[in-house]
Amino acid sequence: MELPFAESYKIKMVEPIRRSAREEREKWVKEAHYNMFQLKSEQVYIDLITDSGTGAMSDRQWAGIMLGDESYAGATSFFKMKDMITKITGFEYVVPTHQGRAAENVLFSYLIKAGDFVPGNSHFDTTKGHIESRKAFAIDCTIDEAKDTQLEIPFKGNVDPKKLEKVLEANADKVPFIIVTITNNTAGGQPVSMQNLREVRAIADKYNKRVLFDSARFAENAYFIKVREKGYADKTIKEICKEMFSYADGMTMSAKKDAIVNMGGFIAVNVKDWYENSKRLAIIYEGYATYGGMNGRDMNALAIGLDENTEFESLETRIKQVEYLASRLDEFGIPYQRPAGGHAIFIDAPKVLTHVPKEEFPAQTLTVELYLEAGIRGCEIGYILADRDPVTRENRFGGLDLLRLAISRRVYTNNHMDVIAVALKNVYDRREQITRGFKIIEEAPLMRHFTVKLERAGK
Ligand SMILES: *Cc1c(COP(=O)(O)O)cnc(C)c1O
Repeated sequence: MELPFAESYKIKMVEPIRRSAREEREKWVKEAHYNMFQLKSEQVYIDLITDSGTGAMSDRQWAGIMLGDESYAGATSFFKMKDMITKITGFEYVVPTHQGRAAENVLFSYLIKAGDFVPGNSHFDTTKGHIESRKAFAIDCTIDEAKDTQLEIPFKGNVDPKKLEKVLEANADKVPFIIVTITNNTAGGQPVSMQNLREVRAIADKYNKRVLFDSARFAENAYFIKVREKGYADKTIKEICKEMFSYADGMTMSAKKDAIVNMGGFIAVNVKDWYENSKRLAIIYEGYATYGGMNGRDMNALAIGLDENTEFESLETRIKQVEYLASRLDEFGIPYQRPAGGHAIFIDAPKVLTHVPKEEFPAQTLTVELYLEAGIRGCEIGYILADRDPVTRENRFGGLDLLRLAISRRVYTNNHMDVIAVALKNVYDRREQITRGFKIIEEAPLMRHFTVKLERAGK
């Protein structure tokens, strides 16, 4: 008999979590104005709000923490981090920042001006925020297939080359760079193929444009290329990463994802002017150029995390856990963005809560129902997150409306996945009785999902 698959690690430290009663959760979620970000973590049993900064560091990373060099300038920890980034990506110049959005802020402060167009696949919400707050436009050129959650294709995060070329044909002079997010978080943690990265590079070269990768989950993207794309099965993850980044001029990175640290990020580039100006702006916004908002110890942990998580076994353990949850949902017939993404399962909420009108936010309604059912905290990636159109100020109902169940790295076991699946099944079984959603009573003009206050609709 073939031995079953198991995790590529054993557990050395644990953190207790606690179940709660439904009556407690009713009270807590109401006090939180039905916004998951306003809950206290102790009011949550299984936390799936994000996989960002919530991973469990390895013993080697913790050992690196003890060896951190906290010198203000020229710390050995910076050079360990920089050398690892250069080894994996090929990018020569590195500017640390305290997290991913800070990398965006620093680089975009130099690159983007009002009226610009920044085309790419789906822009992550902070990326979109940093483009739109500069009065520029994020143009989503993701393939149309990504919007059909039931369609199963291997690289659903791809850029549509025709859409991209159209933007460049019309407005080349207003495009400061092309951005590709790997994996495509907003489309469901879906990967981008090597072939597609090559095509984007060719279009960029034709119009003399530079390419930036938003790289939070580049290692997961490389895993999917290895297992799904022809010609890569025998290549190592590190070889695949090197080739991916060879099609870009630079990257921004939220190290809280694939580098498995609790805090950290960076800009890495091969372009001298991007580097010089990032360094200049990082000093104003983040800190001196060899720490940029990070502790020396955290730069050590980041370097080790990047090294470990660009190994096949580490990525296989993670992605197979997400696939396991997907297989349980398949048993119950619950619709999600197919195939399962790298870091999360995205439930297609309007397909579940068919009676809740879009104006009452089906995905948010499902998120609240799952919390009430079992104390599981997911995250709406849908109409609330989409914010209002910057020009018309109307809600944007054009995209998908998903409940994201983000799985932290090396944190929960498959027993937890079983609890999540059964809790969702219980909600799914009473979906016909859920007819009303929520209305907004207070919202911020940008990135409203963090602070939005909601009330039950029809009250
Ligand atoms: C998380 C994330 C960011 C922003 O990073 P933070 O570290 O949260 O600031 C940017 N892009 C993508 C694709 C992300 O997933």
